[in-house]
Amino acid sequence: MSDWWFPRPGRPEDVRLVDREGHLTATEIHRLLKSPASIEWTERVGVVGKTDGSAKASTRLLRVEGWVAKLDLERRFDSPETLLEALEQARAPLLRVSVWSPEKQWAMLRGAEGWWLLTLCPELTTIRQFTTLERRMSGWTALLAMGLRVSREFGVGLDLNPANFGERQLEGPLFYIDDESYPALTAAELAGAIVARIPEEPGCPVVGWRQWGEHLVAALSRASEGRLDWGTLYDELGSYPLTQRFEAARRALLEPFAAARIASKRAPRSERRTARRTCVFADVHANLPALEAVLEAAADAGAHDYLFLGDAVGYGPHPRQCIERLAELPRALLLRGNHDHAIATGHYGVGMNRLARLCAEWTSTQLDESETQWLANLAIEHQGEDWVAVHGAPRDPRRFLAYVYELTYEDNLDWLRAHALPLCFYGHTHVQCAYVGSDTGGRAATKQPRLELTRYTRALVNPGSVGQPRDGDARAAFALWDHRERSLSFQRVGYDVEATLRALRVHGLPEELQQRLHAGT
Ligand code: ZN
Repeated sequence: MSDWWFPRPGRPEDVRLVDREGHLTATEIHRLLKSPASIEWTERVGVVGKTDGSAKASTRLLRVEGWVAKLDLERRFDSPETLLEALEQARAPLLRVSVWSPEKQWAMLRGAEGWWLLTLCPELTTIRQFTTLERRMSGWTALLAMGLRVSREFGVGLDLNPANFGERQLEGPLFYIDDESYPALTAAELAGAIVARIPEEPGCPVVGWRQWGEHLVAALSRASEGRLDWGTLYDELGSYPLTQRFEAARRALLEPFAAARIASKRAPRSERRTARRTCVFADVHANLPALEAVLEAAADAGAHDYLFLGDAVGYGPHPRQCIERLAELPRALLLRGNHDHAIATGHYGVGMNRLARLCAEWTSTQLDESETQWLANLAIEHQGEDWVAVHGAPRDPRRFLAYVYELTYEDNLDWLRAHALPLCFYGHTHVQCAYVGSDTGGRAATKQPRLELTRYTRALVNPGSVGQPRDGDARAAFALWDHRERSLSFQRVGYDVEATLRALRVHGLPEELQQRLHAGT
């Protein structure tokens, strides 16, 4: 046996199960440990590196048939009874928390001088091994939210190193790999696990850290159910030791935390959920009479703030006026659509047909430098406490090119689940509707005029198009989001179509656009 780096069993009786239930029998484990195909995973031991984790020098790892077997040479017990006693103490806190892969299994392996504790777990891809920065960042967000939740609900601390968390398949659930648990998380530990990511990613631009900060604030706020002490966390984030050259990144990362700290001082959470109504609207497409009609109807309905999902311009005859009207809206979150992006950058190639391109070219002749810049500065995503807003589809890394529709809504609902977001607003299809999912597995498209958001675990909501509806109803579309009732109502409002048609003719814009507005298709 001493020839092996990873100790192997002699007879089948040298392997014993700890729990009666498990994926593998003792015989199967015996076979796996003896398999000629097994690979001793030496490089993860005693190494601290970017692409793998670090393990104690006495740790032994074996990869075989999709499983990873692990034991610690130093943790040897005289008898199975003493081993079981020690194991129960160590794993009891974490078993309650269910952060491990459900297939994880414990066994005992007999060596010449006693028994080792052996764990078997399906091989996972750790967050450190994720191939893009975007995925690593969302992995960090998920692990930090998990760590905070577990600490708050169970008083158990996890080792928040990205090498200790992994997933079985792409965007699947995240599992804790380590066997150890610790006392509940302190603010300093949480701050350390956040700031320590900066030196690992020297290639990430400063603006990337700010964006991650936004996502993180939203995720931590959800995980703590609004009960996080933002003041202390902010102070700890600022004082975690970091070399000077990473200070700009830290400052950017801290901006959203500073905002959260100020907001938490201003009002307790219960008071913030007042009778607030948001007007959610999209795809104005330079149709001023339609935009005015929607804003008026929203004001009449008591809208307090605005969420605009992109495509201010393109197709319609009033690009300047619509930009001006949107820019002056108070309490508004505004997004960039694909038309806005194309007109701002002059790149008409991606996702634009002949008509769209023709209109984009005309639009860019109508706008001055500052208006073009205004379009270019629009965000591609906004995230709140439990929602996200994009122009196109949340799954799309660029957020404004892909569509949510019959063929893609399931994938996008999966994306929301993987990111622990219950609600997503999107536009781009010009069709007023919602796709909803519940935990019991039901998923469906719905056009009912009112949605009780509490009935669903996930919802993708399109308020329809203000300036160019394509769902057979020519009236301008929008939605009202009632925060206290947690409901959403779809709205339609008639507007002076003739005025828009006249303006289209005056500017010599294509006839097809007039027919479209008439028919709402
Ligand atoms: Zn559009």
